[in-house]
Amino acid sequence: MPEASYDCIVIGSGPGGYVAAVRAAQLNMKTAVVEKDQVGGRCLNYACIPAKAVLRVADVLAEVKEAADFGIKVSDPEVDWSGVMARREKVIKTLTGGVAGLFKKNGIELITGEAALAGAGNITVDGSTIAAKTIVLATGSVKRPIPGTEFGGRVIGTEEAWALPEKPQTLAVVGAGASGAEIASAYARLGTEVTLFEALERVLPTEDADISKLVDRGLKRQGITIHTSTFVENIESTESICRYTHGDNKGEAEWLVIATGRGPDVDALQLDQAGVTRGNAGLIEVDGRLRTKAEGIYAIGDLVPGPALAHKASDEGIIAVEDAAGLETHPIDYPDVPRATFCTPNVGSFGLTEEQAREQGHDVVVGKVQYGAVGAGTVYGDRTGLVKVVGDKQYGELLGAHIVGTRATELIQELVNVRVLEGGYPEIARIIHGHPTLSEAVMEAGRAADGWLIHG
Ligand SMILES: Cc1cc2nc3c(=O)[nH]c(=O)nc-3n(C[C@H](O)[C@H](O)[C@H](O)COP(=O)(O)OP(=O)(O)OC[C@H]3O[C@@H](n4cnc5c(N)ncnc54)[C@H](O)[C@@H]3O)c2cc1C
Repeated sequence: MPEASYDCIVIGSGPGGYVAAVRAAQLNMKTAVVEKDQVGGRCLNYACIPAKAVLRVADVLAEVKEAADFGIKVSDPEVDWSGVMARREKVIKTLTGGVAGLFKKNGIELITGEAALAGAGNITVDGSTIAAKTIVLATGSVKRPIPGTEFGGRVIGTEEAWALPEKPQTLAVVGAGASGAEIASAYARLGTEVTLFEALERVLPTEDADISKLVDRGLKRQGITIHTSTFVENIESTESICRYTHGDNKGEAEWLVIATGRGPDVDALQLDQAGVTRGNAGLIEVDGRLRTKAEGIYAIGDLVPGPALAHKASDEGIIAVEDAAGLETHPIDYPDVPRATFCTPNVGSFGLTEEQAREQGHDVVVGKVQYGAVGAGTVYGDRTGLVKVVGDKQYGELLGAHIVGTRATELIQELVNVRVLEGGYPEIARIIHGHPTLSEAVMEAGRAADGWLIHG
């Protein structure tokens, strides 16, 4: 006999799980969340939030170092690593405390322990059986090594990279996707000698080629040594150093970070017990409403296909429980999910790259504008940032947008909103933007695509 029963049980309290739980509670479901570690999931405790907290420190330091350009004299700033880590902890505590507060406010029960599926609408948590009409799996993802390598010693994953005991003198980062680029950019600006490796031919290889080019330039300006089209092999870790080879060369660093990808955290879940199936890359198979093959069981976030991003996990959580509650829902349009990379220069993008748009046979039009074309670029000190809009000429459709430079991660949202509200680049061109703001460069990119760029 189950020892407790709920309308909705969510397994995992990351941005997928906790948002699903709050929405379920709003829909009057008696809801509980099972978490084996810390409330807030990996996102708040080890990944997105600590990463951005440390990146913010690198941004502040870089600004202080550039203060002379703005007429401010500052003597040599120093990094106090214990202070950096203390602030990181404070940010995490504030935000995870906020999630615990949301649970309390919404009457959501938090059950501490490791959950597994037990079939017939039941789960077990450390030996106790709990029944639920709806079960949402939101257990996220775990680091994966590159073939022939194991984590351990001085070979670490991206989460550990944001919590190093001391600021390293040297760091090797394998994988120049979003996470690798962020780690490289933060540590290089904090004074670490960083080498960044990428097996494909450019950094941020899934971004538009123009964006990768500017990021490559920006990272090199921070002193980062970049090796693209390069495989790192023969990794050996000693107590104090990590050695490796790349091609015919040898390298060593205090820490080697593997930032090449993650896999779903399903080992403890006993998916087979309940008939939940997995497909490509071991991800759980779901339909557009996040329903697994097993009745009453949903899966969201890093467990399922689509970009492994916190905001995508949250949206899936909402769709899943709204569907369970019998509300009208619609599948996510995954190309419209914004992508944000918080290295310097910042990158924000969504939808198709220029290359993808051409491959798909669109009648492609591109509008490109540098931040320097509008007043704000010069006022705020970033003239090299770029807004690139990719459209289809026939109806002025906005197929994708790509921004690199100051606040790109914020600026991209406007373009996503216009697309989702069924606007195109001609609408962006005619929406009045405040002055002087970097968003005027977004408007100008719309005009460039529409053939009547004013500034430029
Ligand atoms: C270093 C790093 C930086 C990142 N930065 C960003 C970023 O800036 N923006 C962004 O959008 N995304 C970022 N991501 C990706 C983002 O962290 C994930 O997409 C997001 O955390 C997925 O959310 P989730 O709810 O699916 O799972 P998670 O956040 O992974 O949470 C899952 C939770 O489930 C718990 N759990 C697992 N198994 C069980 C079990 N059997 N029983 C009970 N509990 C269990 C875990 O302990 C964990 O707390 C980053 C990832 C990394 C690694």
